[in-house]
Amino acid sequence: MPARPLVLYPDPRLKTPCAVIEAIDDSVRAWAEDLLASMDAAPPRTVGIAAPQVGILSRLAIVDTSRNPQHPGGHGLLILVNPQIVAAEGEQIFREGCLSLPDYTANIRRSQKVTVTALGLGGDLLTIDAEGFEAVVLQHEIDHLDGLLFLDRVANVKTDLFRRKTG
Ligand SMILES: [Zn+2]
Repeated sequence: MPARPLVLYPDPRLKTPCAVIEAIDDSVRAWAEDLLASMDAAPPRTVGIAAPQVGILSRLAIVDTSRNPQHPGGHGLLILVNPQIVAAEGEQIFREGCLSLPDYTANIRRSQKVTVTALGLGGDLLTIDAEGFEAVVLQHEIDHLDGLLFLDRVANVKTDLFRRKTG
């Protein structure tokens, strides 16, 4: 299955709330394969990708914090259909990047711990308790499914948004 081209800011598809997946059929499984291939084709240490970032406006995301060895202790590869945050507590500020905003990073305030429910590709109900880095990534990817980018959560553009060094 092929990697798909990344959708980049300010493409309006990134601002579009994604549709709930009603049935996990062959097309959803093919989307998941494309999404995984797109993540594999992205820069090393890419730890998450959401379906709208490859032009699929449905509630599907992949998180795999094991791709960044600086942040051990997560659940490894998670392929999430219709993920939802059902509980959250605490607070943390983390410097985030995004495949769809390759020129920027930003300090974003999010919950320290989250509980996420989702369906696996087999239709099984997943409940994921995550904290720290993995909790950040889950919240970032689920934001994508609601048409939100980290830019939408920057508290102060002057002090919290950073242009990446180029070249
Ligand atoms: Zn992103």
